[in-house]
Amino acid sequence: MAIENVVIVGSGPSAYTAAVYAARANLTPLVVEGEGGRNEGIPGGQLMITTEVENYPGFPKGVQGPELMQLMREQAERFGTRIETGWIDRVDFTKRPFTLFTEEKSYQAKAVIIATGAGAKFLGIPSEKLLMNRGVSACATCDGALPVFRNKKLVVVGGGDTAVEEATFLTRFAAKVAIVHRRDSLRASKIMQDKAKANPKIEFVWNSVVEEILDSKAGKVTGVKLRNVNTNETAVYDAGGVFIAIGHEPNTKFVKGAIALDEKGYVKVTRGTYTTVDGVFAAGDCVDFVYRQAITAAGMGCMAAIDAERWLEAQGH
Ligand code: NAP
Repeated sequence: MAIENVVIVGSGPSAYTAAVYAARANLTPLVVEGEGGRNEGIPGGQLMITTEVENYPGFPKGVQGPELMQLMREQAERFGTRIETGWIDRVDFTKRPFTLFTEEKSYQAKAVIIATGAGAKFLGIPSEKLLMNRGVSACATCDGALPVFRNKKLVVVGGGDTAVEEATFLTRFAAKVAIVHRRDSLRASKIMQDKAKANPKIEFVWNSVVEEILDSKAGKVTGVKLRNVNTNETAVYDAGGVFIAIGHEPNTKFVKGAIALDEKGYVKVTRGTYTTVDGVFAAGDCVDFVYRQAITAAGMGCMAAIDAERWLEAQGH
């Protein structure tokens, strides 16, 4: 079996940026892009399920998420990156070269970059899927400024830092923002709670879950059907947009036990992108639960490729 210099696992901004840098360092990297996982069979990460991206530098008029990913992919290929589709479900990092396994085949590599991202958690109700990008979003930073949400009443679902931060951000554009939370107290840090509670545009709907987002038939968001978990009573709350902010899940199950992960499954890194296994690097949203932007993921992908290149050189590659 051929031994690759570097295998990059993933297909989002961090993976493709790592590939551009590794390819330009003459490492002829191999990218193993997933089969889409949560994105219904479309590799390319979370930007594949986004529409307009207005905050990626270099695109003053904005760019569609899938188009941006296609451009990054082409740029990686231009310098000799090879791309294969496969779902890595197991690794052996106990000896070098490292081995990565899909159900059908395996790869051997001197160095590995893990850039498998994270996915927003969703409520799992059908209307949420039907209205995705039609008034339903999982990222206020990405979508909040879009015209569809301006001067509307918006709903943010969740009670953690993300929900509170997104609600606060959305008050810049929205007429009103309701944080709908399933309990009667927030999980978010005290300082962010205080800020949100002092914001006259934010109101709280406690002990409530979203049973349905209205109106799938009309193809746009007109409100949410809420159920009070204590009384079981339901009520319709009028809203022009819904932001789901109930947490993210890093796509790191396949490396559990092979490298150190934190309690939520994010890869632990030190010195930039070094994981706990020498020669294995990690970048993007599978590491970062704070910034979670395409540009930060891309930046970390660049760092991982430089780290891998220097590490290989130190190994006498
Ligand atoms: P999180 O802390 O896990 O909070 C998720 C929230 O969603 C919780 O309030 C949870 O309710 C609720 N939830 C989960 N599943 C739900 C469901 N199926 N239906 C309804 N509600 C549901 O996630 P996060 O807010 O994304 O934060 C993740 C990490 O990033 C945290 O460590 C956070 O501190 C950090 N973060 C930091 C900042 C910052 O410092 N600026 C900003 C964002 C995130 P319960 O409370 O009932 O469990």
